[in-house]
Amino acid sequence: MENLYCLRCNCELEAGQKSVAVYMFAQTVGIRPRQKSAAQRICFCPQCSVSLAMGPPPEGALNIAAWKMIRDLVGSDPALNQAAWENLRGIVGLLPAAETDGGRAGAYFEF
Ligand SMILES: [Zn+2]
Repeated sequence: MENLYCLRCNCELEAGQKSVAVYMFAQTVGIRPRQKSAAQRICFCPQCSVSLAMGPPPEGALNIAAWKMIRDLVGSDPALNQAAWENLRGIVGLLPAAETDGGRAGAYFEF
């Protein structure tokens, strides 16, 4: 199976790693024969999902549709936030002598 990459930050998402997948396909309506395109799978890592959901709406109708769906996920259960937080802690842990809580507050918005 091919490895996937976050659409936003391009980090590699290994199989089974926590992420958000957006599936998209197109289909004809009211036209015979009915045609259906292949499905595309677009992935976001937890940090980018939370960051997108917390941020202002993007431009473009398709982007806004995806943004609303991701906001739904991020807003309905803290599990995705938790995953992003765990990843962030992992990154912070690699940095020398992390500051106290104050230095972490804006980290989600610094992509
Ligand atoms: Zn990402």
